[in-house]
Amino acid sequence: MEKKQFQAESKRLLEMMVHSIYSQKEIFLRELISNASDAIDKIYYKALTDDSISFNKDDYYIRIEPNKDKRTLTVKDTGIGMTKEELEENLGTIAKSGSLAFKNEVEMKDGQEIIGQFGVGFYSSFMVADKVTVYTRPLHGEEGYKWESDGEDGYTIEPHNKEDVGTEIIIQLKENADEENYDEFLEEHRLQSIIKKYSDFIRYPIKMDITEKRPKEDNEEELVDVTEEQTVNSMVPIWRKNKQELTDADYEAFYQEKHFGFDQPLSHLHISVDGMVRFQSILYIPEQLPFDYYSKEFEKGLELYSNSVLIMDKCADLLPDYFSFVKGIVDSEDLSLNISREILQQDRQVKLIAKNIEKKIKNHLQSLLKNDREKYEKFYDAFGRQIKFGVYSDFGANKDKLKDLLLFYSSSENKLVSLKEYVERMPEDQEHIYYATGESHERIEKLPQTEMVKDKGYEILYFTDEVDEFAIKMLMSYEEKEFKSVSSGDLNLEDEESKKEAEKQKEEHKDLLTEMKEILGDKVKDVRLSTRLKSHPVCLSAEGDVSIEMEKVLKQMPD
Ligand code: ADP
Ligand code: MG
Repeated sequence: MEKKQFQAESKRLLEMMVHSIYSQKEIFLRELISNASDAIDKIYYKALTDDSISFNKDDYYIRIEPNKDKRTLTVKDTGIGMTKEELEENLGTIAKSGSLAFKNEVEMKDGQEIIGQFGVGFYSSFMVADKVTVYTRPLHGEEGYKWESDGEDGYTIEPHNKEDVGTEIIIQLKENADEENYDEFLEEHRLQSIIKKYSDFIRYPIKMDITEKRPKEDNEEELVDVTEEQTVNSMVPIWRKNKQELTDADYEAFYQEKHFGFDQPLSHLHISVDGMVRFQSILYIPEQLPFDYYSKEFEKGLELYSNSVLIMDKCADLLPDYFSFVKGIVDSEDLSLNISREILQQDRQVKLIAKNIEKKIKNHLQSLLKNDREKYEKFYDAFGRQIKFGVYSDFGANKDKLKDLLLFYSSSENKLVSLKEYVERMPEDQEHIYYATGESHERIEKLPQTEMVKDKGYEILYFTDEVDEFAIKMLMSYEEKEFKSVSSGDLNLEDEESKKEAEKQKEEHKDLLTEMKEILGDKVKDVRLSTRLKSHPVCLSAEGDVSIEMEKVLKQMPD
């Protein structure tokens, strides 16, 4: 038996690794399973170019075996195994990745599927282990070896008669201490859920003996424990499947499985991009507003996978705020990760993906509006405010992108209409897009200011949401038609004759107007004769750009 020290600096690196790189202990299982999957992949890639190797997918699997008596957890694979040299190089040297070298060697586009690259994942097992033992036998006829380490004092290597090609890693779990309990890694359910969380889409079966209560054969009433080997992971990620093979029910099932919401998704998109940056994505537009949507607790973001292994639960950078309601996943083989594979190294790829996704969501909503109005209005009912905020926020930087997603209630159509629809219907002599603000449609209906505009045969958009007018002020115009509040002083809808008549009247009643102004004092800025009233004796109107409704909102805001 040979005893060797870890390569220089490795000991310190190991310390650091165990104590600070990973945020959660459970990650060690993700790392060992990723390595096992890589090891099987390597046989697969070799078989592609070497006729003497056959690859029958059914012979390859990963097996997880907890042993409560010995307090060990074993991760077994039928992968390529390691020679003595490889054991020393790859497990004896921290930050040495045999997988990265392999990837560079095969130089195949397919080789990209291999997960390993940093050469540290294996050591994460020392977060939970007092001792790690590796039995391995390489593919090419050589003998097997046993490698063992307590993580501090170097490692030992000795020949060992392993029957099958592959690797078996035995983790001797640490003793439980006051605050730390390692027994969870012996519990079937806990292990199952860790595997599901991080490794559900590993392409090879991850098998485990699962014990379940089942009715007895001769007596259905009685339940007995039945232990059976089961495959825990779903293997093929739904986003890698062909769209044509998937039904709406499949997408809905995935939405439920991922707990994206308690509702049904209103709509989904399945994206596969093979451009500057490669990625697959499944996105959902929920049906209902999440209960915490307008609270501080709500976090936007998409699940981010690198090569089908979960990297981040909620990657916020993938979604702009105005699409924060979108749920889903992104999987990319082009991400550069940091060493813990928990954070992204650089955000160039993420930015590219985010840009692409934003465009896809926008186009999807646009086509929903065009082709499935009912669904779009349902969406708008739940998330329309967010779109309006989007128009208004960031000093209007995104207004052009979003303006065609806006809907407002229309006086003449008695339903929601888009700005495009409004403008297309405009009579030739109409110069502006008219709107009126108020608490409700009924209230707005009764506004004296709407009468004259309606009489002219012009459509009015009813703004009942506080953000409506702010959004529109940001837009300023749509297809060169300016927005105009029906309450603004200068509607200019009168013909020449009535204008002259108005001038005359103003002269005649000058004294009355002055007196009224004196009585009302500071409450109004001015008292004027109006030509646009029909059935109402008087109306309030705003000067300049800010409507009365908007003024109310502005007054409520903190200075
Ligand atoms: P990485 O996976 O990033 O390369 P690891 O520390 O997880 O780094 O593993 C180091 C190396 O050890 C791998 O690159 C691989 O060459 C080798 N290795 C680890 N686990 C196995 C295994 N189960 N079968 C074969 N080789 C393995
Ligand atoms: Mg690894």
